[in-house]
Amino acid sequence: MNISDKHVVTINYTLKDNDDNLLDKSEDGSFCYLHGASNIIPGLENALTGKTAGEAVSVSVSPEEGYGLRDDAKMQDVPREAFPADTPIEAGMQFHAEGPDGQAVMVTIAAVADETVTVDGNHPLAGVTLNFNVTIADVREASAEELEHGHVHGPDGHDHG
Ligand code: ZN
Repeated sequence: MNISDKHVVTINYTLKDNDDNLLDKSEDGSFCYLHGASNIIPGLENALTGKTAGEAVSVSVSPEEGYGLRDDAKMQDVPREAFPADTPIEAGMQFHAEGPDGQAVMVTIAAVADETVTVDGNHPLAGVTLNFNVTIADVREASAEELEHGHVHGPDGHDHG
């Protein structure tokens, strides 16, 4: 079965930057997603289209096809008192905040001064070329419910708990 839209794909992967640093890898041996539903970045999804279980794919994804280019406009100075006083705030910390459209965005503390904290709303992997090594473990047709929800159900997928 070849990978195309409306299929559930299980992959094992490692992700490295151009300096060979390991950025991410599939946990517990596998990661599964719904193809064609924007579950994964476009550059990786495109590279997997048409492949079958057992195949290995190596792909270098540009920032434009990955997490986007860095945007300095997403750097913002926030008063220190906007953060809980009893919480240590250090450069490099990441947390979830609410974006302009109410969506959850990951922000990173870029710098801490006495009165202000500089937060960076860029995705941590914005501007990074993403080098994936992928092996395809399984390809199956998605269920009607999975298609309706836009994500995978089951042991390796989404748990509605
Ligand atoms: Zn669901």
